[in-house]
Parts: sequence; C-alpha cells; structure tokens
Amino acid sequence: MSNTITNIIKEAEISSAEIFKEIDNRAEINQKKVIDAFREHQVSARHFVGTTGYGYDDVGRDTLGKVFASIVGAESALVSPNILSGTHALTIALFGMLKTGDDLLCITGAPYDTLQDVITGDNNGSLKEYGIGYTMIDLKDNKIDYDAVKSYFVSHKAPKVVFLTRSRGYSWREALSIAEIAEVVKFIKSLSNDTIVAVDNCYGEFVETIEPPQVGADVIIGSLIKNPGGGIAPTGGYIAGKADVVEHISYRLTAPSIGAEVGSYNASYLPFYQGLFLAPSVVKNALKGCVLVGKAYNSLGYSVSPSADSYPKDIIRAIEFNTAEELISFIQGVQYASPVDSYVTPEPWAMPGYQNEVIMAAGTFMQGASIELSADSPIKAPYIAYMQGGLTYEHCKLALAECLARTISK
Ligand SMILES: *Cc1c(COP(=O)(O)O)cnc(C)c1O
Repeated sequence: MSNTITNIIKEAEISSAEIFKEIDNRAEINQKKVIDAFREHQVSARHFVGTTGYGYDDVGRDTLGKVFASIVGAESALVSPNILSGTHALTIALFGMLKTGDDLLCITGAPYDTLQDVITGDNNGSLKEYGIGYTMIDLKDNKIDYDAVKSYFVSHKAPKVVFLTRSRGYSWREALSIAEIAEVVKFIKSLSNDTIVAVDNCYGEFVETIEPPQVGADVIIGSLIKNPGGGIAPTGGYIAGKADVVEHISYRLTAPSIGAEVGSYNASYLPFYQGLFLAPSVVKNALKGCVLVGKAYNSLGYSVSPSADSYPKDIIRAIEFNTAEELISFIQGVQYASPVDSYVTPEPWAMPGYQNEVIMAAGTFMQGASIELSADSPIKAPYIAYMQGGLTYEHCKLALAECLARTISK
C-alpha cells in the first residue's frame, strides 16, 4: 500500500471515530434484541432440522418467523427460503394486499428498478394487468412531498396501499430514517386509517435500533441475502407485519387454501438462524465500511451520499465519479479485492429487470448477496457508484485501498 493511500485511510478512520462509536452502540442493542428473541422462542437444535414434502408442523420454519417477528416488533412474519429474492417477496406482498380496483400509491419516488415491471409491465401479469391503479409521487428536495400526498388523498379514493422505499436504492436521495417513517405513517393514518403502509425495508435492517413496524408500519418486506441474513443465509426473503396483512400475503406465497401451513426446506434452517444471529454484527461492519469509504472519497473531493459526516440510514454508499471510466475502475477494484471470483473483471451488461446497462462487483459467497461487499451502478451520467455490504470491516478497508489506488492513478 502506498503511503498516500495509507494516510488517506488513516485520516478517514480517525475522523470516523464518533460515528463508529454510535455504530457499535447500536449493534449492541440489536444483538441483544436478537438474543432476547431467540430465548423467548426457545430456539434449539430441533429448529435447524430440514423437512420434506408439505412441511406440515415444520417448527424450524414457524419458529424462524416468530423469532423474526419479535425482533422487528411485528405480529407475525413469513421468513422463507421459498421466497426467491427481495423482488419476489415484494411481488408476493403487493399481490397479497391489492385486488382489482384497488390503488397503490408510492410516495418515495419510483420504487426499486425491479419493481417497475411488477407494477406497470405489459404482458407479464403485472398489477396493472389485474386492474390495480398506480400513482407515484416524487420526492421533493429529497423529502416526502406531504402536500402532494395530501392532495392525492383529497382528490382520489383512499389507496389500499401506500408504499415507501426505506433505502436509497440506485438514487442520490438519502434513505428514510425510522423517525421519518414514524412521521409519514402517522400522516397517512390520519388521512385514511384503513390504508396499509408497506415499507420496502431492504438494506435498512439493524441500521437503527427499531424497525418500521415499531413505529406503525403495517408490513415490511426484505431479502435474506441482504442485512438480516447476516451473510450466512443462502437465499430467501421475509414479509413481517400485522397478522391479518401477513396472513393475506401468505395465501399468495403459497395458495389460498394453505397459506403458511405448508412449505418444506430440506437443507437445514441452521444458516437462517445463524445468519440472523450474526446480522447485527455484520451490519455494523458494513456500516463502518460505508462510512470509511465515504470519508476517504470525500477527502479526495468526490461527492458522496449520504454526506461524509452523517450517520448512514442504510448500508449503501454512493460516490459520484467524473467519468464512466473512473466509475468502472472503482467497481473493478471492489471485485479484485473480493474473496470469490477476484480474478475476473466485471463489465457493464444488460441485466434482467434493470432499465440501463449495469456493472456489478459481486465477488460473493452467496450469488449476488449484497450484504457481502459489492458495488454496482447503472452506466449513465451522472456516474454514480453504489457500494454496499461487507462481512468484515477489514475487507471493506482493503477494498477501499484497492479502489483508491485505481482512482488516484487515473
Ligand atoms: C435489493 C432491493 C430490492 C430487490 O431485491 P432483490 O433481492 O435484488 O430482488 C428491492 N428494493 C430495494 C430497496 C433493494 O435494495
């Protein structure tokens, strides 16, 4: 490592001390919540055992849902390896909540890229094809546009579902804090108590010390190859919230006649429990990586989001580069520093579900797991790299050194 790079990282680390301390504090609180939930539900070896066929009385599956619900303050939860991804979890949830003639209102701008086709796609079984209305209200100055939301409610029948994206996704806005979610839930409920507030919770789990259901959100949805899988869960997703909402969604996860009573998994639930146990600590490492990378690139004059001095509200770090070339070399640096496939060089490609060409660094143990250190970006101006995850802080730091070396040599 050159002296310059060592110094940049050392400086970044020194100036991150306060934020790191707060990250440590929150991780302790979250670790306690997890252990308390494991104790409450008497988790033991019998819950790790795989099942076959219908999976009736699958205590591993059922208890995993109960433990998860306790952790996030929900009445019930579906936590399942049979949910294929975050997009699948969100799709099941939306189709479980919305019927023909209902309306969906997104109030944090466009939802995540892979949901566009789920909501408004043509010839693909989208919500639109089932006669479900959709309106999106853009953020205003990076905040929820309360005036626009209010005028929607004044001029339309109340939507069945209001949808929030907690994380920034591929955009330059900041993630929503739990305090902001609390405020918006209260506002929506004051306009229509029957409207379901659903939160895409991807990348937000364990970043703060409470989760959206604890401030009134009706349902949260996420992926197990992100934060709550702790890097150990091999696949899966979750849906957690009010018991009646989750029950309705369970009929979409499986079938209207069976709901959450059926579903086996033969390969052991151990990694799901163990991943959930490790998640607060892994999220801590990823958050520290996110802060460090932000500080270091900001010290070189690059714009970063969230701002280099703020406590992150999700695990994503955005860095704006000057050229596509700089961006691509950054992503390639992350890949080079990865434990898996470090010898390959990622290139931009047309990835299913995304609107622009995307370049991704994902040298991960679990394919595409973005709780592991990974970086990706659509290739379009402004040239923003989005980096997230990191199972260990040391890995984040080494990857940062690799990326800085490439950036400085440009
Ligand atoms: C990752 C993500 C999704 C989709 O999850 P996949 O597992 O990639 O399908 C949805 N919303 C947000 C905010 C995400 O970060």
